[in-house]
Amino acid sequence: MPQPLSFVHPTPHSPWGTYLAQVDRVVPYLGHLARWVETLKRPKRALIVDIPIEMDDGRIEHFEGYRVQHNMSRGPGKGGVRYHPDVTLEEVMALAAWMSVKNAAVNLPYGGAKGGVRVDPKQLTHKELERMTRRYTSEIGLIIGPQQDIPAPDVNTNPQIMAWMMDTYSMNVGATATGVVTGKPIHLGGSLGRVKATGRGVFVTGREAARRLGMDLNGARVAVQGFGNVGSSAAELFGQAGSKLVAVQDHSGTIFNGDGLDIAALTTHVRQTGGVAGFGAAEVMATEDFWDVDCDILVPAALEGQITVARALRLKARIVLEGANGPTLPDADDTLAERGVLVVPDVICNAGGVTVSYFEWVQDFSSFFWTEDEINVRLDKIMIGALKRIWDTADHHGITLRTATFAVACERILMAREERGLYP
Ligand code: NAD
Repeated sequence: MPQPLSFVHPTPHSPWGTYLAQVDRVVPYLGHLARWVETLKRPKRALIVDIPIEMDDGRIEHFEGYRVQHNMSRGPGKGGVRYHPDVTLEEVMALAAWMSVKNAAVNLPYGGAKGGVRVDPKQLTHKELERMTRRYTSEIGLIIGPQQDIPAPDVNTNPQIMAWMMDTYSMNVGATATGVVTGKPIHLGGSLGRVKATGRGVFVTGREAARRLGMDLNGARVAVQGFGNVGSSAAELFGQAGSKLVAVQDHSGTIFNGDGLDIAALTTHVRQTGGVAGFGAAEVMATEDFWDVDCDILVPAALEGQITVARALRLKARIVLEGANGPTLPDADDTLAERGVLVVPDVICNAGGVTVSYFEWVQDFSSFFWTEDEINVRLDKIMIGALKRIWDTADHHGITLRTATFAVACERILMAREERGLYP
């Protein structure tokens, strides 16, 4: 028996525990590659850094940061950076591992990585946020780089933070290195279409799922948890397809309107006030009632571990589109499958963001930039192709889309591992 890792203590419902359970489910479908599976159950490299900064009032504060490279058999590490007070090494390990699976599922030439800082960025001033980001970037500068590991935005990080990261790394290496991060502002080597790419991928996979179930998106009722980058972009595209956004929950509250919320007005309200609470044309709903809202499609687009067995038993939706990473616990996955609810798993559903990050990285290397139409056409083609391959695998083995995505992805990762062989 391999020794368990000494530095994390996963439980069945913690993010790393969830990931390990998902890997265990795929082993029967890996054939001779199953002998390599332990590779997937431990990160290649995990860096913990101290981030001391001077606050505006002269105090010195320390923050804890991480960068985890889970697997790099197929290429450099790739994955976002999260700023959140609940970030832990274990969470970042799981997020890095899901990036390995996601990048392989859409066949991008990347391994998986992720970063995070335990901080509530809303408590920092603009200057403090910049100092913290620059110090974090310098500390993880040991292991990131355009050919090594390429960070991107995640929860509470954005193009401005990517610009600071790119600048800090560039100052340290003595040359402008736009390819070290993706999700940058457009005029600094960013890509058109990146900001909305994850939401777009959620919509495109949702449209395919609806088509296969014979569900008309026009008039379909959609509920979204998290109205940030991913949730709001997905909601906008469902709105354009004629769907009704009936409920939204974020950190500030839960709102409902059976006739459909005005998505553009809600987006403006959230930009101005920071959350959905206080939005006029809606009823306020109790937090827990969100989970039995009458809807056809549910999009969890906030944090991990949101769909528990108790909530899975109450859901009315026929399709769950995992915009967030790790929103469904393994036993809740079984409940949803038993109830006939179709889950499009995170590792394919929210892969649109990293796919356009890949386009951004390629454009940075060639210094030649594509139009937004070119980006969207290529994105849709990759997402639809990847989902079809996964769906065929699911049908072939009679397994869920999640296990099928892991089967396709883990086979690619472990094949690369086997072909490269072990060094020394
Ligand atoms: P964001 O910071 O833009 O938005 C996060 C949203 O979650 C906000 O609306 C916030 O209010 C809400 N939220 C936070 N805590 C909550 C709680 N306890 N209950 C309900 N809502 C809560 O982040 P994002 O970039 O939209 O990321 C959302 C999810 O999508 C994360 O799981 C992230 O890992 C995943 N994801 C993001 C990208 C990307 O390109 N940004 C790509 C793939 C996956």
